[in-house]
Amino acid sequence: MKSMKIKLNNLSNSVSYFKPLVIAGPCSAESNLQMLSTARELKKTNTHIFRAGIWKPRTRPNSFEGVGTPALEWMNNVQKETGLKVITEVANSTHVNKILKHNIDMIWIGARTVGNPFAIQEIVDSLKGVDMPIFIKNPLNADLNLWLGAIERFYNAGFRNIIAIHRGFFSYGIQKYRNMPQWQLPVELKRLIPELPIICDPSHIAGNRSLINEISQTALDLNFDGLMIETHIDPINALSDQEQQLNPIQLNELLDNLVVRNQSDNNSETALSLEYLRSQIDKLDDKLIDVLQNRMNLAELIGLDKKANDITILQPERWKFILEDRMKKGITKGLSDEFVILLLRAIHQESINIQTKVMNSNK
Ligand code: PEP
Ligand code: MN
Repeated sequence: MKSMKIKLNNLSNSVSYFKPLVIAGPCSAESNLQMLSTARELKKTNTHIFRAGIWKPRTRPNSFEGVGTPALEWMNNVQKETGLKVITEVANSTHVNKILKHNIDMIWIGARTVGNPFAIQEIVDSLKGVDMPIFIKNPLNADLNLWLGAIERFYNAGFRNIIAIHRGFFSYGIQKYRNMPQWQLPVELKRLIPELPIICDPSHIAGNRSLINEISQTALDLNFDGLMIETHIDPINALSDQEQQLNPIQLNELLDNLVVRNQSDNNSETALSLEYLRSQIDKLDDKLIDVLQNRMNLAELIGLDKKANDITILQPERWKFILEDRMKKGITKGLSDEFVILLLRAIHQESINIQTKVMNSNK
């Protein structure tokens, strides 16, 4: 993996990083030895920043909740011995005061905290006057406004060294991923705040070692600015998130195999062929919009008919038929069932919205 030194955060005047930035280290700080032995090995890789959770926000009680304050000194030992910068999670002002006292270099706000504006404001207030990188994870649920809200609270208080972390979103039921990536959300965040660096945490998206490579590569292909990857000297015996942690050798291998692509290509032949393919896409998208408009016009006519004949909007049999029929057709054409379902649901919902309007109008 090639990386280069860049000014990652255009908002900031104080920090420059490598891109892709690599943050690695255990899910939780467990002991001085575990921290130091992991950090020593990470020092031999492309890791720039050492992570470890000291206070662990766990969904269920009786899980390992972190060792707390003693780990701050272990962090200092990692700084002293390896020269790596260190980062940990804070969730309230007590945590902030402790990390400041121990010269921890930077902090991240966890997914469970980001969704709580009171907690965010408390952290913002207790960090007043401190200039350190602040990494903000996305909230558990796929609500872009909550994520934006936390970022804005820091920004409005004068913080300019803010980096977003995409760690996936909770989804009920058994899924391939522990947290669904829903890449469209970080992509939308980047559209709204182009100068905000965003890194990806493939470990919490994956929930499983075997998926980390694939997710990391997708993140780099989407031009993410870096990765945060949970790495433990002995993952199988880790006290939290055993299944998703890599050991330092596995991390090194993963980093070596990642391909970092250029955002734009100066080679004129590639640029031309890209331009041609994009013009094809533009034409197809225009057609898609026309088709959708025609379809919604038909849904409106059907709505008028239903209204005239006092028929309910939702026709479960018809919806079931559409779903099964289009899924079959989509799969034959090589489209993923996940995509076809999402698309059909969105179209169906819009048809229902249109027909509800028809029912409620005086026409
Ligand atoms: C973590 O990074 O160890 C962690 C608890 O992450 P999240 O807040 O994304 O669940
Ligand atoms: Mn973890």
